[in-house]
Amino acid sequence: MKKVETKNELINEMMRFKQQNKSIGFVPTMGFLHEGHLTLIEEAKKDNQIVILSIFVNPLQFGPTEDFDSYPRDKKRDEELALKAGVDLIFSPSVEEMYPTEPSYTVNVRDRVNVLCGKSREGHFNGVATVLTKLFNLIRPNKAYFGMKDAQQVAVIEGLISEFHFPIEIVPVATIREEDGLAKSSRNVYLNELERHQASALYRSLLKARDDINNGERNIDQIKKQVQQMIMKETTGKIDYVEVLSYPELKEMKVIKGKFILAVAVKFTNARLIDNITMEV
Ligand code: AMP
Repeated sequence: MKKVETKNELINEMMRFKQQNKSIGFVPTMGFLHEGHLTLIEEAKKDNQIVILSIFVNPLQFGPTEDFDSYPRDKKRDEELALKAGVDLIFSPSVEEMYPTEPSYTVNVRDRVNVLCGKSREGHFNGVATVLTKLFNLIRPNKAYFGMKDAQQVAVIEGLISEFHFPIEIVPVATIREEDGLAKSSRNVYLNELERHQASALYRSLLKARDDINNGERNIDQIKKQVQQMIMKETTGKIDYVEVLSYPELKEMKVIKGKFILAVAVKFTNARLIDNITMEV
């Protein structure tokens, strides 16, 4: 497994792979790898001859009061896990390498961002779209892999790919969960013991809603109310949002119909957790 930290080294390595006519799968991450990330790598390995993993905690996608400085990092462990998973090349640039100067050009996302996490994390998706534009141009993968845990991110990136004509296929990967249903996340380490125990209520509330919808419930307010009540009853967290929107357009709907997302975000003492299910009726 190759490890590179500069754009020039990366470009050289990518040229070598391209000359060999290898298909390239790309898995962008912020590191502190867990089974969710490893599943993206596994999927990328199935489809491609070469798998590139990027590890970069992107300051542009963190708000001023968010956890950029304290975001968990463990480069050595990440490299061990990536090697075991069969990654061919890790790109882990410094902030200065990706942004040698204050960026003069950034991607401004206008669609799909005034709801869910985009609403409570102003500028977040501009940061995501900007760094991905840079990474896509450096790596030029055939396919890029993203987790449905961050379903709004998948929707925004699909829009980015389509509007900027990136010749890249986006592959969404289902959310990987702990045994009790909690979506795996690098931020779960911020939960205290009690909160960790309570946090499984997020997914349970989504599953209960899924059952109700499968049994014919179509009233959005009713579904949202039930999910809110269950989270409030079973956790000490503060609900940021419970939303039902069309997917991937992320538009409001009058009743549950077609393809949609039910998404939640809950703030615990030191971690804000998100989860969602997408369904079609
Ligand atoms: P992050 O390092 O948190 O930015 O995540 C990098 C990629 O891994 C993103 O595409 C995430 O959606 C994906 N990911 C994170 N957690 C999970 C999970 N539990 N299951 C599937 N994919 C995940």
